[in-house]
Amino acid sequence: MRLLPVAPRPFDDELLTSWQCRVACRYSSTPPKIEFWLGRPPIPMRASFKARDFQPDKDMTWRWARASRLKEPDLQRLALCDLQRSEDCYVTNPLDRGVCPVCLDADAEKGGDHYCRRNWAHVEAAVCEEHGVALQSTCQRCFRGGLFQFRAMPDGARLVCAWCASVISERRGRQPRQDRLFESMSAIGRAIDGKGFQLDNVAAASHFLWAPQPHGLPYITCLGISFPYGRLPPSSTAKAPLSTLPLAWRAASVEAVAELAGLVARREIGTVPPFAHEAFRNFRGGEREDAPKHIVATAQDESAELKLRTDDDYRRLALDLLKSQAWKEMPSNTGRKKNRAIGRLMSRALSGG
Ligand SMILES: [Zn+2]
Ligand SMILES: [Zn+2]
Repeated sequence: MRLLPVAPRPFDDELLTSWQCRVACRYSSTPPKIEFWLGRPPIPMRASFKARDFQPDKDMTWRWARASRLKEPDLQRLALCDLQRSEDCYVTNPLDRGVCPVCLDADAEKGGDHYCRRNWAHVEAAVCEEHGVALQSTCQRCFRGGLFQFRAMPDGARLVCAWCASVISERRGRQPRQDRLFESMSAIGRAIDGKGFQLDNVAAASHFLWAPQPHGLPYITCLGISFPYGRLPPSSTAKAPLSTLPLAWRAASVEAVAELAGLVARREIGTVPPFAHEAFRNFRGGEREDAPKHIVATAQDESAELKLRTDDDYRRLALDLLKSQAWKEMPSNTGRKKNRAIGRLMSRALSGG
């Protein structure tokens, strides 16, 4: 049996791959290379959430534990399948998760390694539960994304940007607290952990927001969100779309999911426009009916949902818009900003707002 001369102990709330990467970086190596060295076929790093973090192979865990002089149960305890959440409630691709720079600074101040918390892999994780700041997945120095890497430094293992090698830290700029997002995220977290009907609502709301629509873009695009940087969202047909979305799009979804699922009060300036609330109610109503009825109901709903008005009505709406104060205050330049403003005015007029 091969033994590693130095291996740090895992933290209580650490992700198993984070610990493995911390071990590996001390040998300028990677977890798959260490697994090969331990005499096992290596497991690839990305897209292997289940085999690495959720339900790791017992024999592999035993080898890692032995090589690091740890008790096997102390490693097995880090496996996510032993916790309450289902696999759907974790972000599977490490590239789509974020880290809290304030937590990492605190790790360094304590004189220990940086490490990745398990709750950063939760589908609703957009904000740090401890510090209330947004999780980040891009470097604050070179602004490039990509997976941060562990690097062994004199003071311990540090997460660094793969491009410019700077250590991930809040010192590059104080982060504001994201209280509203945090409230939504905590409500979703409680719904997921409590299971029950609220979990159903969360799953239905995220599915509803991201499901491709027969006559247009998914509902997530009607929230007036330009994040991230105007790119169109990856339309997701997955049953649990949040687990496959990048951090920025998950953060954009969290408030809308909490509002649609009825977990937070509707805000004065709501995230979700009234017509989307109504469409969601129809969507939930359709789900509850039994199958044959459902097909008929959908066909009827679709014609009912279009709710076409007369040409005169539309002309009147357009004229009202042109006369409105908001139209006069419209930025005079062309481009995306103006298009978005016009889009907002139109949907407000159409939803009777
Ligand atoms: Zn934090
Ligand atoms: Zn960088």
